Amino acid sequence: MMGAVQQLTNKWIRGIGASPGVVMGKAFLLDRSKVRLPEKRIEPDQVEQEVERFLKAIQESRQQLTEIKDRILDPEVRRHAFILDVHLMILDDQMLVQDTVDTIRKRKVNAEWALDITIERLDAAFQAIEDEYSKERRNDLHYVSARIFRNLLGKKHDDITKIKGNVIVVAHDLSPADTIQMNLKHLAGFITDMGGKVSHTAILSRSLGIPAVVGLEVATSLVNGGDLLIIDGETGEVVINPTEEVSDAFRERKRRIKDMERDTLRYASMAAETSDGVHVRLQANIELLDEIPSLKIYGAEGVGLYRTELLYLNRDDLPDEEEHFQTYRRLAESIWPAVGTIRTLDIGGDKFLSSYPKENEINPAMGLRAIRFCLKEVEIFKVQLRGILRASAHGKLRMLIPMISGVEEIRQVKAILAEVKEDLVRARIPFDEKMEMGTMIEVPSASITADLLAREVDFFSIGTNDLIQYSLAVDRINEHVSYLYEPLHPAILRIIRGIVQGAQQYGIPVAICGEMAAEPAYVMILMGLGLREFSMNPLSIPKVKKMLRSVRFEQTRILAEEVFQYSTAAEIEVRVQEWMADQFPEEYDRDEGKVMEA
Ligand code: PEP
Ligand code: MG
Repeated sequence: MMGAVQQLTNKWIRGIGASPGVVMGKAFLLDRSKVRLPEKRIEPDQVEQEVERFLKAIQESRQQLTEIKDRILDPEVRRHAFILDVHLMILDDQMLVQDTVDTIRKRKVNAEWALDITIERLDAAFQAIEDEYSKERRNDLHYVSARIFRNLLGKKHDDITKIKGNVIVVAHDLSPADTIQMNLKHLAGFITDMGGKVSHTAILSRSLGIPAVVGLEVATSLVNGGDLLIIDGETGEVVINPTEEVSDAFRERKRRIKDMERDTLRYASMAAETSDGVHVRLQANIELLDEIPSLKIYGAEGVGLYRTELLYLNRDDLPDEEEHFQTYRRLAESIWPAVGTIRTLDIGGDKFLSSYPKENEINPAMGLRAIRFCLKEVEIFKVQLRGILRASAHGKLRMLIPMISGVEEIRQVKAILAEVKEDLVRARIPFDEKMEMGTMIEVPSASITADLLAREVDFFSIGTNDLIQYSLAVDRINEHVSYLYEPLHPAILRIIRGIVQGAQQYGIPVAICGEMAAEPAYVMILMGLGLREFSMNPLSIPKVKKMLRSVRFEQTRILAEEVFQYSTAAEIEVRVQEWMADQFPEEYDRDEGKVMEA
């Protein structure tokens, strides 16, 4: 691992296509994975040279951090700059520097090994004190030591805020918080070693329209900063330093995709209905208000899911009521007369608040996430509820509660909501008293008790991303089990059928807002199962619209019935692909024009 990595030519790797689009660009390596350390004994006459090498790495690290700090211009990002001061202080810490130098001299080991020993010792000391402050300092210590290690090893590394040009970011992992810190203007795409198609980072990249491939496992070890990359966010293919021939094929595929998109876009303004006149509501999932103009472009009938987490990320404080109110009001007013569905805070899992101590959870996806967090931190929850309610007076809004696992939780939410409403009434602050409240169905216990939950709420929205994760016990961000993440698993189809039946018993509408709703083949089955509302990334709407306009509802019902005869997701997938190819011989040629064939 020492020194520069060998440069590869025309090397193909395949991961998981996370956000469609084919792009070519220079790699920007954001390598924060743990580097493997060479451990070597050294000769006595090499000792001083080794000490010097170590001090040079410290000096380089100091310089890099100072530069990063000086370069931050954006006042928003500046607010986080104090963390860099903490890192600079660690670099000046004599315990770190002197101990390492002493170890090199006494034990006659290389600088990496000596530093590793020091870090372990310091880490153990912090670990012994179990408070939040020490936990944070441990993280800082590891961040700083990773930087020193990489400088010792001569590995290139960069920081996200520095991104310039038209680059493809290559990272071991990216959190949604990382992604929004990047200068999106310069980001052509990104690829990561970790992650799955429905990780929040992948979803965010789709909503921002940034092509992405995740779950590549080896990207950061194969790619050097500055390598030329082609990434295909649909097929999950990545080519490192392509030949001229492959680059040409890439340009051709890009052109073909553009043509196809142009053709599909014609359907955006048409009605979303089957050829026999069954109307389907196609709505948009959004993460940022900046996406609202795309609703018109892609023909969305309102917002079926506004994920509000980004309001809370990358800041040291919490949004106040006014900020919530102004944000949701803008949503309500700009999409009027269509409806906007605001999902309350879904924090935890893979998104965390900087302003709230991160719980040390072994299993965050099953931990204090979403409504569980809000029911624990009721005051934080109430601030958001007040903001939503106040905004409801300015348009048509609905409220959606994530990760409900049973009736008790929804009753708790209703009680809190009633309190907030009472306060508003007392203060004579207007709000829409009839604003609907729905629950996400994304936990197996909620799906099994859908008939009971249906009595409590105005609507359901099925979050298949989590529903699949929890029902099939497959971590949605773990690339090692992504092969088990099967939307067409017979269990999932049975669960969805049950939810629809539960909702129908009480006559409440049920939508799907998970990623399944963006896949035309799945939409066909889901329609056949009785679903009439789909919320997806706006980009997918014209494609789904185009296909549903050419089928008859009855055909989808027969398909949905038929798939229940099969025992595995693979069998169902084969049948559905066949069905799609029959229905849409032109559009549904899945291998059409892939770069791989070049
Ligand atoms: C889901 O779980 O399907 C969903 C829509 O919510 P998120 O992806 O934000 O968890
Ligand atoms: Mg979810």
